[in-house]
Amino acid sequence: MAMLETEENLDPEDWGAFRALARRGLDDALSLLEEAREGPVWRPFPEEKARGLEEPLPRGPMAFSQVLDLLRERVLPYRTGNIHPRFWGWVMGTGTADGVVADLIASAMNPHCAGYDQSASVIEGRALAWMREIFRFPATSAGLFVSGGTAANLIGLTVARNERGGAGLKQQGLRGGAALRVYASAETHSWLGACCELLGLGRAAICELAVDDDFRIDVEALRRAIAEDRERGLLPFCVVGNAGTVNTGAVDPLDELADLCREEGLWFHVDGALGGLAMLSSRGALLAGIERADSVAFDLHKWGYLQYEIGCALVRDGAAQARSFAASPAYLEAHGRGIQPGPLILADLGIQLSRGFRALRAWVAFKTHGADKIGRIIDQNIDQVAAFAARVKAEPRLELLAPVSLNVACFRYRAEGLTEPEQDAFNRELLLRIQESGIAVPSSTRIRGRFALRIANANHRSRSCDFESLLAALKDIGGALEAAPTRGMVAMSED
Ligand SMILES: *Cc1c(COP(=O)(O)O)cnc(C)c1O
Repeated sequence: MAMLETEENLDPEDWGAFRALARRGLDDALSLLEEAREGPVWRPFPEEKARGLEEPLPRGPMAFSQVLDLLRERVLPYRTGNIHPRFWGWVMGTGTADGVVADLIASAMNPHCAGYDQSASVIEGRALAWMREIFRFPATSAGLFVSGGTAANLIGLTVARNERGGAGLKQQGLRGGAALRVYASAETHSWLGACCELLGLGRAAICELAVDDDFRIDVEALRRAIAEDRERGLLPFCVVGNAGTVNTGAVDPLDELADLCREEGLWFHVDGALGGLAMLSSRGALLAGIERADSVAFDLHKWGYLQYEIGCALVRDGAAQARSFAASPAYLEAHGRGIQPGPLILADLGIQLSRGFRALRAWVAFKTHGADKIGRIIDQNIDQVAAFAARVKAEPRLELLAPVSLNVACFRYRAEGLTEPEQDAFNRELLLRIQESGIAVPSSTRIRGRFALRIANANHRSRSCDFESLLAALKDIGGALEAAPTRGMVAMSED
């Protein structure tokens, strides 16, 4: 059938010309990585450049070459900075060059990853099997690649609620039954509160436990809290253990938590978003007990070094995960043959029906580098932070604010003769000056109420000299600030 003159599509009119431009775009992208070490870690996005992007809905076309020019000039330079070797703020991964190409190919294939009969389903299934192998989960376990740690934790907590929250919950909702309780240390990431709200449990469902001097959950207090809750007629259903807390990287005693959960008949979920992938390193023993969890969440876009977004949930009882999420509407009926011979098994394990091919990025990375090398770099990150922490301890003006167990260090400058609130204000100013200098990007947190600078090293590009640069900046900028405190630097209120 001849195509009508008036019919349009979105493909290039001249593929040859487009390929040349596309190569330029790819070159721009790869140059960012090849030259990641050059230039400041971060630079502010100048207001006039940001304003230049404000425009109403473009009704007509712009040449693709001009669109690429805009990207080059106004978008590429003003990134978060986490591809740089001296970015250690929050917990951000760095991305890989092979990941760029994997994403390009996944994007061109554009498969719908609900579980159709296609190569993408096999690749995703294989990548997931590797994840189960890393965490020593059995063949009967299941899991799913999702957008990140929050989504992966939500999957674990949802299955926990549905399996241990009382019969009929899926059908009836939460009305009527005993109030559910989930237990976690006070150091647990904010996903837990958000997910309890989403799941209709309410934040009141969370029993927040105190931590010890190493920021690990107090297991005896946990045991007492469960008994007290049962006495009050509440329904304990889940304990959340941390494999690396977001503040300090502390690892809860996972083996003890697994024992307790078995005794009490509770679901044991582990949030390994920050530290779970230490299982790939020689430090796996630090996470002993994680392999006994009912569910584990972890992030490949953090310590897996992959591009955003990719996290993963594993569920020991694969059938339970499917019970929580499987749906079979008429329009998804399986036909035994054809492109959808069986149920859409990937969509049936989570809340997304349409899913992208993020799994390819993981598959390509593990094939290209091998799990051993990724594990060695995780070790390298741990060693780098341990060495940095030792240098901080040795500096009279610097102090560590929390023990270092994985890849996180919390520290501050001790300026002479300042009160605690003044130290907080001083250290915040120091943090901001370091970020604005472009030398490095640490972030901040509060440790026992005190303002702390914080680094979390999930950066495969960092070298030891990069941490020396941060130390030098801390001493130089801190020293200058001490010599000439700014007038605006008022003591932070204690909130
Ligand atoms: C980052 C993080 C999360 C949230 O993961 P996202 O990928 O940002 O959704 C949860 N828990 C911990 C400990 C984290 O570090």
